Amino acid sequence: MADIIDGKAFAADLRGKVAEGVAEFSAKAGRKPGLAVVLVGEDPASQVYVRNKHKATVGAGMESFEHRLPADTSQEDLLALVAQLNADPAVDGILVQLPLPEGLDENAVIQAIDPDKDVDGFTTASAGRLMTGLPGFVACTPLGCLMLLKDRLGDLSGKTAVIIGRSNIVGKPMAQLLLRESCTVTIAHSRTKDLPEVVRGADIVVAAVGRPEMVKGDWLKTGATVIDVGINRVPAAEEGKTKLVGDVDFASASETVGAITPVPGGVGPMTIACLLYNTLEAANRREGFA
Ligand code: NAD
Repeated sequence: MADIIDGKAFAADLRGKVAEGVAEFSAKAGRKPGLAVVLVGEDPASQVYVRNKHKATVGAGMESFEHRLPADTSQEDLLALVAQLNADPAVDGILVQLPLPEGLDENAVIQAIDPDKDVDGFTTASAGRLMTGLPGFVACTPLGCLMLLKDRLGDLSGKTAVIIGRSNIVGKPMAQLLLRESCTVTIAHSRTKDLPEVVRGADIVVAAVGRPEMVKGDWLKTGATVIDVGINRVPAAEEGKTKLVGDVDFASASETVGAITPVPGGVGPMTIACLLYNTLEAANRREGFA
């Protein structure tokens, strides 16, 4: 049986370390690190995410600035708010909750964020910095995956990694991060031919597809390390109930691989922990402490 990579415990530990770093920062700077979160509209899932981020930010001892705007906010007003947050010395990190309501240009809003405050790592400047090896901010989910991999495996150099999924927020930055760790990286996607065969060669598999239990145990190399990013809601055995599953068929995979993240309790909790980590890092860099 595979070892379970306990993302929940790792994330709790990371949040504790961030809280210690926040206390140190606040003592030196005479202010707390600040994270501004912008929510436009009433999307219920986004409201839950924003509430959780607020709680986690305050829980880590940081300042949380919430900006809730109506769904009919104009592009101009939203850009003006981003500009105001860019200029605000109390704000170290800016996060605009996606998706934005229809009619707003998501890309233009994200690109308006100062890259030095881009704690979500979504601007093209952040993506470019990651690609060229410059200091910048890495998207929280792939950063969390990398932390779990390094904790489990130590040095990743020379390992063969297959990432399934090529999105800008998970697959591509994940590939860059693993390349930076000197892995031999393959990015697989919806047009990849004979995916099971591609996956079978990998010491490390990161699945970020959004297809419930797609990756089967017999696709995986014995002893591989598997990071399952997928979050899929499917019907549960009990009538009318649902449950969360990943992109990897956990039951069959855990017969073959060396270690695997569960869903839930694997990658999920790492995302907010890494947002706090990035915000503290942004604050330290802005004050010249890092
Ligand atoms: P996305 O839809 O943007 O990208 C999915 C990728 O999967 C695409 O690049 C596509 O080419 C690839 N793909 C689709 N079908 C495929 C197939 N049959 N074979 C191989 N590749 C295929 O999704 P995303 O935003 O990268 O998210 C992926 C999953 O991760 C989703 O389940 C999402 O909910 C989850 N997610 C979790 C977290 C977290 O905090 N744990 C964060 C972000 C995303």
